Parts: sequence; structure tokens; C-alpha cells
Amino acid sequence: KTRVYKFGNKSADGDSTMKNLLGGKGANLAEMSKIGIPVPPGFTITTDVCTEYNLLGKEAVVNLLTNEVEASIDTIEKSMGATFGDKENPLLVSVRSGARVSMPGMMDTVLNLGLNDEVVIGLANKTKNERFAWDSYRRFIQMYGGVVLGMKPEYKEDIDPFEEIIEALKHKRDIELDTDFTIQDLKDLVYDFKEAVKKRTGHDFPTNPWDQLWGAIIAVFNSWNGDRAVYYRNMHGYPADWGTAVNVQAMVYGNMGNNSGTGVCFTRDAGTGENVFNGEYLINAQGEDVVAGVRTPQQITKLGSERWAVLAKVEEDERAENYPSLEELMPTIYKELNGYQETLEKHYRDMQDMEFTMQDGKLWILQTRNGKRTGFAMVKIAMDLLKEGLINEKEALLRIEPNKLDELLHPIFDPKALKNANVIAQGLPASPGAATGKIVFFADEANKYKNSILVRIETSPEDLEGMNIAKGILTARGGMTSHAAVVARGMGKCCVSGAGALKINYKNKTLTVDGHEYHDGDWISLNGSTGNIIEGKVATTEPELSGEFAKIMELTDKYATMQVRTNADSPNDAKIARNFGAQGIGLTRTEHMFFEVDRIKAMREMILSDTVKGRKEALKDLLPMQRDDFEGIFEAMEGLPVTVRLLDPPLHEFVPHQLATQKDLADDMHISLEAVKSKVAELEEFNPMLGHRGCRLGITYPEITEMQARAIIEAALNLKEKGIEAKPEIMVPLIGTLAEFENQEKIIRDTAQQIFEERNDSIEFLVGTMIEIPRAALLADKIAQRADFFSFGTNDLTQMTFGYSRDDAGKFLPIYLEKGILKVDPFEVLDQEGVGQLVKIGTERGRSIKPDLKVGICGEHGGEPSSVEFCYQTRMNYVSCSPYRVPIARLASAQAAI
Ligand code: ADP
Ligand code: MG
Ligand code: MG
Repeated sequence: KTRVYKFGNKSADGDSTMKNLLGGKGANLAEMSKIGIPVPPGFTITTDVCTEYNLLGKEAVVNLLTNEVEASIDTIEKSMGATFGDKENPLLVSVRSGARVSMPGMMDTVLNLGLNDEVVIGLANKTKNERFAWDSYRRFIQMYGGVVLGMKPEYKEDIDPFEEIIEALKHKRDIELDTDFTIQDLKDLVYDFKEAVKKRTGHDFPTNPWDQLWGAIIAVFNSWNGDRAVYYRNMHGYPADWGTAVNVQAMVYGNMGNNSGTGVCFTRDAGTGENVFNGEYLINAQGEDVVAGVRTPQQITKLGSERWAVLAKVEEDERAENYPSLEELMPTIYKELNGYQETLEKHYRDMQDMEFTMQDGKLWILQTRNGKRTGFAMVKIAMDLLKEGLINEKEALLRIEPNKLDELLHPIFDPKALKNANVIAQGLPASPGAATGKIVFFADEANKYKNSILVRIETSPEDLEGMNIAKGILTARGGMTSHAAVVARGMGKCCVSGAGALKINYKNKTLTVDGHEYHDGDWISLNGSTGNIIEGKVATTEPELSGEFAKIMELTDKYATMQVRTNADSPNDAKIARNFGAQGIGLTRTEHMFFEVDRIKAMREMILSDTVKGRKEALKDLLPMQRDDFEGIFEAMEGLPVTVRLLDPPLHEFVPHQLATQKDLADDMHISLEAVKSKVAELEEFNPMLGHRGCRLGITYPEITEMQARAIIEAALNLKEKGIEAKPEIMVPLIGTLAEFENQEKIIRDTAQQIFEERNDSIEFLVGTMIEIPRAALLADKIAQRADFFSFGTNDLTQMTFGYSRDDAGKFLPIYLEKGILKVDPFEVLDQEGVGQLVKIGTERGRSIKPDLKVGICGEHGGEPSSVEFCYQTRMNYVSCSPYRVPIARLASAQAAI
């Protein structure tokens, strides 16, 4: 079994198809090597070894790897003409994590590995650059200390223990930048760092390069199970057994002086999707310096410098004058880099996010991957690549993550409100969107308010969870490729970064701008498209859907075979959904209509009366109101089918539970308070969700079904008179036996017949049922003898199949998820294994009697992409979901069919 794959010198053992085994980084390093991109030579230890490590532990895995790793280091040594651990001509390496999907900053990397007190002198002599050698050494101790030896801040208010030493020295020497350190300063730092390590860990810093190498490899494996990585994995649903690969690679040095540097670049704009090469770099810097926001980075392209300089009033002059773009400063390197970015984008046929380093005028590429992007950019890039002929229509559709479309449907700031907004500062438009919330200064306080804005000097991977909770992210430091910016774009979260005018004080929890102070809990708003930071709340409005979005939706129609309907209870919802392309209504819940003030009274009177006559009186008042509701909805959905579900919830939900309201009701109805109270008590149930609800109501109180059927049919007839076609599909809830269905069906059909005779006119309509009780799924062949259609109510079906009460599951589901007893919340993602079986059985048995039985789904799952795919596999006619999920479901339906 091969555990180590080599790359470098225009060849490689692996390639880009091997992401599962080599991780994304390793697979792409191999691929780049093969197509002739200059990549420092190295090797990848497979993700399988990570799994082996988790089973067998360090010693066994080191034994398994020793031969292959030694041989591979030997290959790197030959290719670089230097020797690992050698005191005169040393080779240094980086040890880099790399899972099969990119998890930016979630795992660990160590640079400059192989240095000790002797090797550093050799490196200085060899390169004739003492400063560089000692800078590399202090960086190495810093990274190795943090990653391998656990030298992290002890409290959240603390800064990194090494940064603390650096800051103290800067203060003492009265300098600002780490490039201002003298050689002696760097030597002092190395000494102080080593002392700090000894003091905190009780051990000397390891001096043997091979010990260092194994320590780092194991630390990278461990980082797969670190808090940050676990949180990120859970958020995205990546299984724990994927593991991470480890890449060991010859160092190239961006910190060798002013002819060296490092940077990050994107082949297109990850925020907007525009086809402009962009990125940031730093001269005389290494690795993470750009992303971590240590110094304010410079732009790669001239265009970029001008654009951001205008947007970020921060350090405007500095940016424009002292920090020219790479294009201007190093035109030859820029040209070469530009060539590679074109090659790589064409090769991978997608927007690339690349890392590069220049060592004394020579350019090296250190990473490429499909870049993270906002929902807007995702749509634009897919459509542009299609236009450019790099991908075809099906590929364009598959490039779009259905859930990310959601970002395009979010509210934007109301342009009118923006006119009067008090803009207090401007930063970089790092991730578009509109966010309003209360200021919090620490990630673990993001859930303190319902809407919070996380305000940080800069963010770090530890902040991930809080960033996810916050409505928006604001940082004072860091550029367009800073951690905050990259992560926010990946989450589709509004982010303004690098707003240098902000003074943030964590200890006092204050944000100061232009002498004005803001505190924890104060409202601010962020405009992620302009970088504006606004005082207070700003009103929002519905977004306009862009041309590209409309084109994507057109494409989905070309490929989708399963239809998408919406769940809508009002004409307004119906209209929104229709604009999003809904092909009908899959569920109208009639009970929501009863909660309005003037109706709830009639409803309560109906419930409280003890006689059929009394109920009929009250229902007479309700009839015209329901008929109006249905007319509105049918009109909004003109020509399209509308499924109306008869009354479903337990009656006690409608009666007043507070004394004052009970009194009012008693007065209104001219009955005693006691009578009201006793009726309320009578309606109390131990398990209301399994109690007197659904068709059980219509069976015990047939006059309710009669009234609802009448309202539906009369509404349709009224519209017919106006020349508007209504297509009602009447749905009986909570059926478990054929007899229940027959009982309700008869009432509905008799009522319709009676109305047709009264009005001497008729319409077409269907009578079907929800399948939401396991028994109904099992006996679907019986029920299908009478029912015109089935709609799987997967909320109740999930509840009853698992035996989890939907209203009480909050107490244990989170723990189940945490302990891995359930992988996902079955109320969010359809449980295909269990509940899915009932859906399949129900559909198959139903169609065995009626081959063309219309089948759909109307639970929350109807808008969840993996569940939509399942519905397609089950050969449903349609899925139905809330209006804002309609575009997502349409795309998922098309993707399922491709
Ligand atoms: P991450 O996955 O967090 O981006 P990386 O493994 O890509 O971590 O490395 C972190 C930084 O160090 C990146 O900027 C990368 O370009 C740089 N780096 C990694 N390996 C080398 C190397 N061999 N020579 C120079 N820089 C390197
Ligand atoms: Mg990287
Ligand atoms: Mg139900």
C-alpha cells in the first residue's frame, strides 16, 4: 500500500482526480506539477494514514511511514540541492494540512521546519542573508510552538503569547513593522520565544529536525480533530472519517528581501463574480502574513489598487503612493503570474484561488483550488463560463449550490433609507449583503442578541462559530483576502473589512470613530457592497433578481422534469412564489386564516357551542371570510393547481387561555365565564399532536368540512364567472384508514354537487389526501382506490415514524447531533433510510392501483436539496416548499434530472 505520493519537477505520482486520497491541496499540487507550473517539490501523506493514525497512534504510524518519508525527503534534497538538517547547506520544509475539501484556516501548517541554533547559521552563510535566516527561525518557533506545542492564548482577551513578545519588543524599540527589526532584535526574539516555550511547556524546544518533522506531521493529523475543524465539518456535514492529508514541501522564501514576497490571488472577483484578476501581496513576507492582516497588503493589479484606494478611505495615500501594485512594481513577475492564472482557470474550468511566493525574483505557485465565492459570484461565474464556452449548460447548472441561491433572495437596504443614513466610516466591500444588528466584540457573544454584528480588529479561525451566528462582520484590519473576508464570502455573510478608521478596544468593549464612541449593544448597519458602515438601523426591502439569476432559472426549466409548487397561505405569498416560478400550490393551510382578530371570534364561538345548530350559526359567519381567502389565492395562482388542506390543528389552539380574554369571550357570547373555562379545560389534551385533530375533527364535526368545501367550491365558481380559471385540489389531512377518507370525501363531493345544482354551474376539482401517518403509507393501495392524489406530509410522517414530538425534540435533538447518534436533524433533511422507505412504499402501493396517481411532498423537506433529489428518485410529480425556497427547489429538481 502506498502511503506517500511525490510531486515536483513537472511530474507527480498523483493528480487532481485523487482529492479523496491526497486532499484538495495535495491533488492540485500534483496536477500543477504535471502541467508544468513551478511548484516547490514535495510529497503528500494520504488521508488514509490519518485514519490509521486515529486507530493505531503515533508510534505505529511513524513506523509505517519511515521508509517512504525518508526516501521522499531524499528526492526533495536532490532536486533542491540541499540537505535536510545539514549545517552548511540546509533544506527547510513546510508541513501543510489538506483535507479533501478546502477548510480555510481550520487546520494547521508549519513553515521553515528543520531549523535549530546551528542550522540557522548555515542558512545565513549559504544565503549571505543573516536577517532572512533569523527571521525564518523566529517564525518557525512561533508556528511550531503554536501548532505542535500548544502555545495558544490562555484567555480570549489575551493575544498570542509570541505576538505579545513581539509587541513588547516593538514598543521598546519604538518601531511599528516587523520588517523594521534588526538582526539582533530577531536573535533576541528567538531567545525569548524559546524561553517562553520552556516556561510554559516545561520542555526545551526540539532541536533535531527529524523530531520536528514527525511532531509536525502528527500535529497536522491531530488538527483534523481540533475544535475549529470539528465545528467547520459539522457546519458543512463533512464526516469525521474523511481525515486530512499532510503535505511536506520544500520551502521557498518570500522573506529574503525586497525582491521577494508572497501573495494570494483570484482569477475572478469572489464577491461579485466579475472577470477581473485580483489579489493581494506583501513584499518581504512569508506565508500567512497576507491573510492574517499583519501588514496592510498591496494589490496585485493596478486597477485593483485604484479601486480599493477609493473605497477604503483608510490609508488612502499610503495605498496609492507607497504601496504600488505588483503590476507596476514587478511587471515581469506579474506577467508570469497572469499567465499562470489564465492557464489554471482554463485547466480547471472554474475560478481559482491561488497562493504564490516570489523568492529573489523567481515565482513559485504554492496552491490552487476552486475559489470560495458569494452566491452572486457563483451565479455570475457559472453563466460567464457558459458564455465563454468553458462549460456546457448542464455543467453550469451543476456549478450552482442550491442552498447558496438563498443569498440572492435576501433583503437589501432600502435605497430611500440609505439616502438619509449616517455613514460613520468606510472599509473594504469584502462580502456583499446588507446587515443590521447590535455590536458585539467577541465571537462567543454573537448569540447575545437576536441580530448581532461582530466587530473585531481582525478575525481568526477560532471565531468561526460566532461569525456564523452574527448577521454581519466588521474588521478594522485586513484586506480583501483576510480571514474575515474569505470566510464571510464562503458563508455568504455580509462583511466589511479593513476599516482602518475604527479604533477597537476589547477590554472596554468600545468602538471609536472620529471621536464618537459606540458600545456593545449599539445598533450599526453594514453595506457589504460599498463597504459603508452606518450608525443605527437601516430599513430593508426585497431584492431585484439579476439577469443572470433569471437565466439560470430558465435553464432549470429546460432540464427539470419534476415540478415545484409552493406552500402559501395568502395571496401575497402565492404571488411571491409565482414570481419565483412556482407551478402551483402544494399546501394551503386553512387554519392560519382563522387567527386574524375578527375571525378568531367566530371560530371560538363555533368551538364553544355545544350544539350542531350553534356551530352552524358560527360557521355561517366564517364561510364568506374563507371564500374571500380562497378567491384571493386562486386568483393569484390563476390557471395553476391549488391544494387546500382542510382544518388540521387541535381545537384547543384556538381557544383563549388567558383569564381576561376568556371574560371578553363570555361577555360576547352571553354565557358564563365558568362555561368558557370548562370548555377550555375539556379541550386540553395530553398529546395534542396525536389527539383530536386532522380529519378526526371533520369526522366528529362534519359541518366544518362542509363549510370549508363550500367556501372552496363557491370561490372557484365566483372566479369562473369573472373568466378566471381556478383548479382546486381539496386535501384531507391525517388519514390512517380508507374509511376515514371515504367519510370526508363523501361530505366534500355531496356539498359540491349541491352547490353545482344551486348555481347551475360546475367546475373540475380533485379530492386527495395527505400521507403523514405510517399506517396510511402502508395501506396506500387501499386509500388510492378513492383518493385522486397523495401529498406526503413529511413533518408529521417524520414525527410519527421516529416517535419524536416535533414540539419537544429541541430538548434532545441537539444532544443527539452532538453525540453523533443522528447525523442530521430529520426535520430538516428527510431521513431517506427510514421515513424515506414509507414514502417509497406509499408511492409504489398507491400507483399499483392508480398508475397515474399524482404524488407530491409538502413538508419542510420540499425545499431541501438532498430531499428534493430523493423525491425525484421516488418519481414524485412535484415538491412543494415555502416561497423563498422555490428557486432552490427548482434548481435541485433540474440537478436531480441531469
Ligand atoms: P492554509 O490551508 O491554511 O492556507 P497552507 O498549507 O496553504 O495553509 O499554508 C499556509 C501559508 O504558508 C500559505 O500562505 C502558503 O502559501 C505558505 N506556504 C506553505 N508551504 C510553503 C512553502 N513550502 N514555501 C513557502 N510558503 C509556503
Ligand atoms: Mg493555503
Ligand atoms: Mg400534518
